[in-house]
This record gives sequence, structure tokens and C-alpha cells, in this order.
Amino acid sequence: MTAVHLLRSWPAHVSILLFESTNEPGKGVAYTTNTSGHLLNVAARNMSAFPEEPLHFVHWLKQLPEYHLRNEEEIGQLFAPRLLFGRYIQEILQRTANEHPDLISIIKQRVTSCKKNGDEFILQTAAGNSFSADKVVLATGNFLPGKPKGIPASFTLSTRYFKNPWDPSAVKSTEDKHPVLIVGTGLTMVDVVIGITENKPQQKIIALSPKGYEILSHKQYGHQPAILEELHPPYRLDQLVTIFRKQIKAV
Ligand SMILES: Cc1cc2nc3c(=O)[nH]c(=O)nc-3n(C[C@H](O)[C@H](O)[C@H](O)COP(=O)(O)OP(=O)(O)OC[C@H]3O[C@@H](n4cnc5c(N)ncnc54)[C@H](O)[C@@H]3O)c2cc1C
Repeated sequence: MTAVHLLRSWPAHVSILLFESTNEPGKGVAYTTNTSGHLLNVAARNMSAFPEEPLHFVHWLKQLPEYHLRNEEEIGQLFAPRLLFGRYIQEILQRTANEHPDLISIIKQRVTSCKKNGDEFILQTAAGNSFSADKVVLATGNFLPGKPKGIPASFTLSTRYFKNPWDPSAVKSTEDKHPVLIVGTGLTMVDVVIGITENKPQQKIIALSPKGYEILSHKQYGHQPAILEELHPPYRLDQLVTIFRKQIKAV
């Protein structure tokens, strides 16, 4: 979306190299899922890619055959499948790339290093290519979860231990006679349960929260105008984080 917004706002001034290590630019961990059981955790009315068009995603959903008969308000309240959101973002990226073919190159290679050299940056890729850029945006997304505390290294070497909860083999290789233990009771746990039970509805699963949290349902909060009183440009990332944390605590 950074690339899309740059091209929409300053087409005369940018030339973009977009690097993606997978074959699917635009999806990332969250939207690379093949099951429609994995839902967005934000209602459709709040998932528009364009702040100036808050219902953009709702309108995009409405033109799909499965949503055609529903009204906008109803669609806006839905938690749509994440795979559809991945398609939505990919379509936006592709359309923008088609409109500006000379200004954006999508390079399906993993960047392995980025070094400053005078006024420019030099990027190396795993394929052995080298590129230069004036500015670099790091949009590398979510990293895999860390090792849970207190678990010995020998445990993590086991073929029965899955560090990556989004690895499809984690949900496909369960055995009937052994229950599955999921460490964590949040949204990722829900993803894993959906993945396992799609293949094995009878699978026994135990979910454990290291911090002792119960499974919490989604709550509806209204707008929080207090935060606006504290936000004044020029914005600094560390100040924004402090303000947001304070407001979240207050809510
Ligand atoms: C399971 C899950 C569910 C989520 N659900 C929601 C939701 O419902 N609603 C919501 O708003 N947010 C959700 N999020 C948060 C969501 O991830 C972010 O909102 C958003 O997708 C993050 O986008 P991103 O571009 O920062 O990272 P990503 O979408 O992860 O994209 C990063 C991309 O960079 C690529 N990359 C990384 N390193 C390199 C490299 N060295 N070279 C080349 N390419 C590289 C990766 O392959 C990836 O495609 C969810 C997150 C997860 C993990």
C-alpha cells in the first residue's frame, strides 16, 4: 500500500522497486491462507485501503457474487475471509502497476542486505543481484513467534514442534491418538483450531495461555476522541507509541 499511495500521490516523482521473497506480492503472512475459515479480525467497514474512501473494501466485496445480495451496512459489519482481503490488496497493487508500468517493478527476490553508500542505498538479493535506491521503506511485516519461555532446546528440535503456526503442515500432520497442544489463546490459536478441525473435526486440542488469559471475545468500542487532543504534528513514532499505549490503557 505504500507503493500504491506513492504512485497515486506523486506519479511524476517516484520510480519504485518492490521486492517480495514469495510469489504473492501483497499478501504477507496474514492473507496467505487457503481457508475461508480464517477471518479478518476487523469489520469490513474498517478495512478500506484508502482512508478517503472508507467503504472501498465494502464496495469491492459487494461486487463479488457471494455478497451481491447483501446490503452495504450488513457487509460493513462482517468479518470477511482473510483470503478475500489478500485478493483485494493484490488487485489494487496490480491495477496501480498496470496504470504506471514504467514506474514500478515488482521483483520476486529476497533482499539479503541493504547498505548505505554515499547518498544511495545498495540492496543485494538472494539471487545475487544488486540494486540501488535513493530511499528504502522496510515493510517486511510480522516475524515468526519466539520460542516460549522455559522450553528446552531439545523440545524445539522435535519434528512434533511447529514454530510457525501458519505453516500448513502444522495443522495437517496431527495424529488421532495424541491431543494437540497450542501455546497461546489468542487469534492465532483460533486460526490453528480452524485449520486442524477442517481436516479432523474430532481432533482433541488443548490451548494454554502462558499468561493465564481467558479466551476473549471481540468487543465493540466507540470512537475515542480523547486521543485526538494529544496528537499534534510533527509526529514522532516513539511519541505516537507512548500516546497510543496510554489511551489503550485508559480504554
Ligand atoms: C495471522 C494474522 C492475522 C491478521 N489479521 C489481521 C486483520 O484481520 N486485520 C488487520 O488489519 N490486520 C491483521 N493482521 C496484521 C497484518 O499482518 C497487518 O495488518 C498487515 O498485513 C501487515 O502488513 P505488512 O505489509 O506490514 O506485512 P506483511 O503483510 O507480512 O508483508 C511483508 C512482506 O514482506 C516480504 N518480505 C519479508 N522480508 C523480505 C525480504 N528480506 N525480501 C523480500 N521480501 C520480504 C514477506 O514475504 C511479506 O510478503 C494479521 C496478522 C497476522 C499474522
